[in-house]
Amino acid sequence: MMAAGAKRKGEMGDAPGAKRTPGHWSLGLLSSMDDPELRVDADDKLVIIKDKYPKALHHFLILPKEKIANLKKLKSEHIPLLKHIHKKGIEIAEKADKNLQFRFGYHAVPSMSHLHMHVISQDFNSPFLKTKKHWNSFTTEYFIDSKDILDQLEDEGRVETNTTENEQLLKRKLRCHKCSKMFSTMPALKSHIVLHNVSKKKS
Ligand code: AMP
Ligand code: ZN
Repeated sequence: MMAAGAKRKGEMGDAPGAKRTPGHWSLGLLSSMDDPELRVDADDKLVIIKDKYPKALHHFLILPKEKIANLKKLKSEHIPLLKHIHKKGIEIAEKADKNLQFRFGYHAVPSMSHLHMHVISQDFNSPFLKTKKHWNSFTTEYFIDSKDILDQLEDEGRVETNTTENEQLLKRKLRCHKCSKMFSTMPALKSHIVLHNVSKKKS
């Protein structure tokens, strides 16, 4: 695994218009699906991998085996698949830590190609979580709950996301996801969030 402080491409916001040729970082999830170091489970419909740069104690990605590039490609026929992905998300979260709060969802404007659902524990305790973009991508409406994607697909037969509006969400001021307190720097926010109890059964 790359050191937390190392510079790399591939986490939202690379050169606009960069070509996605084979080997391009944005296609990295495809090779990670077959990487025994990252792959944690699979069945005939999907693969579960560990996020290579986890933004919390437990952070998985669930990818369908069917080639679906992103949310925009979803159709009503994918509803059973998305329900299955959600169910497997709950299972892997329970297995990782049944006492921790998790969220299951999709980034409105993903940086990586191939549809993937994030399964992420709500401690956000990770050295890889460094930037405002990271924070806002998991704690604003940029993170769309899997249940909301399913509702939209069931109601409208497709999923619509507005790229420009969503990209604005990443620039929002830093706000604690638990108590809404505002912070001006990531280190200040990160020392604050450890004070919150994110277990399902709060003491
Ligand atoms: P997004 O496309 O914004 O939904 O997020 C992509 C996620 O993939 C991020 O959480 C990254 O940390 C993670 N990631 C980036 N490259 C890889 C890779 N090669 N293998 C596994 N996870 C990755
Ligand atoms: Zn707080």
